[in-house]
Amino acid sequence: MTAELLLGAVCPGCQAPGFGLCTACRVRLAEPAPHRAVPTPCPSGFPTTYSGGPYDDLLHAVIPAHKERQAWLLTAPLADRLATAVEELIMRTAVDGAPLVLVPVPSTAAAVRRRGRDATAAIAGSAVLRLRRDHDRPLTMIKMLRPVRRLADQSELTESERRRNLAGGYGLRRGLPRLPVGAQLILVDDLVTTGSSLTEACRAVRAAGLSVLGAAVVAATQRRHPSDDRAVRPSGGRVLDRG
Ligand SMILES: [Zn+2]
Repeated sequence: MTAELLLGAVCPGCQAPGFGLCTACRVRLAEPAPHRAVPTPCPSGFPTTYSGGPYDDLLHAVIPAHKERQAWLLTAPLADRLATAVEELIMRTAVDGAPLVLVPVPSTAAAVRRRGRDATAAIAGSAVLRLRRDHDRPLTMIKMLRPVRRLADQSELTESERRRNLAGGYGLRRGLPRLPVGAQLILVDDLVTTGSSLTEACRAVRAAGLSVLGAAVVAATQRRHPSDDRAVRPSGGRVLDRG
């Protein structure tokens, strides 16, 4: 079934009539605002993370549409946002010419089955193609992580429950390809909210002796105030399966 049939003939960004992203949303998506993303409170072990922009009304519409409603036409513009965040991380961390490996935060097997595709890995794979076009350095994407036990749906959990749910929850997949010598890993996700998923992903690869440069995400939620716990979860409900 095509994305258009599932979505109806409206823009997935603003619901204006028409097929695919309207011009206004396309232009807005193509204007990233890369920045350092630090959750409040910041989990211990949270990697240095850059975001392609804030989780504003547009991203609040298109990230769930891509993830939950199979709007695969959004993969490329979301990948451009992610690529911008990766570029910012590379620039800010002044890494030498080491080979870089993008490692998507894993979705649960049930989520991948339900959605028909691993949305985060799709964005990461598309971002790699763009980054390779623009940069002369070895760069690849490896789906290195998997959930090692059954994890509860993160969207139903409070912040501390998310941390407990995920602690020790990711491990390395079996039969991974050999990494390039001196490879630095960049963990990638579509969204950072509490930081618990990226923190657990970072712990899992470091436990395997691998080197992490940092993390990059398409968008980052921003709290209105450090004491305002409601902003952890954007309004509009059950769109996140990770923290
Ligand atoms: Zn639109």
